[in-house]
Amino acid sequence: MTAQARRRSASRSSMLAALGCATAATLAVADLPRQSAVPGGVVLIDLPGTAPPTVTFEDKRVMVMPKGAGWVAIVGIPLARSPGAAKVEIRQGAAPLTRGFTIEGKAYATQSLKVAPRQVDLAPEDAARVARESPILRKAMDTFTEAPPATLRFEQPVSGRRSSSFGLRRVFNGQSRNPHSGMDIAAPTGTPVIAPAPGRVIETGDFFFNGNTVIIDHGQGLVTLYCHLSRIEVQPGDVVETGDLLGAVGSTGRSTGPHLHWGVSLNRAYVDPALFLAPPKPSAASAPPPSASPKR
Ligand code: ZN
Repeated sequence: MTAQARRRSASRSSMLAALGCATAATLAVADLPRQSAVPGGVVLIDLPGTAPPTVTFEDKRVMVMPKGAGWVAIVGIPLARSPGAAKVEIRQGAAPLTRGFTIEGKAYATQSLKVAPRQVDLAPEDAARVARESPILRKAMDTFTEAPPATLRFEQPVSGRRSSSFGLRRVFNGQSRNPHSGMDIAAPTGTPVIAPAPGRVIETGDFFFNGNTVIIDHGQGLVTLYCHLSRIEVQPGDVVETGDLLGAVGSTGRSTGPHLHWGVSLNRAYVDPALFLAPPKPSAASAPPPSASPKR
């Protein structure tokens, strides 16, 4: 960083502090999630100006971070959003503005799964339990706190094989259900699950579908969810740093085997967690197999 950039960054931080925001260093492009303008993806929109803009997408507050001499809006696109024209609304002093962008189509495959029948056709007492739990989960996932996230690049919360199952249309025991809204990482029961970035625990509990669950608020509408845990090691109000223990992998709730279901939500839209991770390192499993026989 040049001395000039340092001064700029310092004056920007003090300006944010003066505005009542927690200080945030100006973002470099490498700090941002990867852009993917599809349902379940993330769209980055650069915005000029010195005053921090307030941005909404389909009536939901959108994350805004300082970037360069201006700002960047980081918009989560819901999986259920149809492709086509979209716009954000921007308030920054005078009259509100809009900025258009295009959501491309993405064909997600269908996945059929077999689970216990009582987890698909719910008994009245289970349906009542789900009805009690849904508002608790929704309230936590709807959290928007002003303090900006410390980073938008996550560590993988558990070591293990990442599936690419985000967005798959799910059919449980032959019946269509909501698309898969997170990343599944297979790992043995008891494998530690860590915080992928700093944040604050806002909800924990045992839920019918999600099993033992932890929810973390990272700031500016970025909220992450950890499901099917065998045990929970944090409680609401705990402040966590990257690498802090949240719990352990399990198979509680509606689950077909031990794995972590990891959800990442931006402006109340579940988006692909892979966009916040460094691309996977080539492993032996994904490398081309050694040629055991001569190729023809
Ligand atoms: Zn899952």
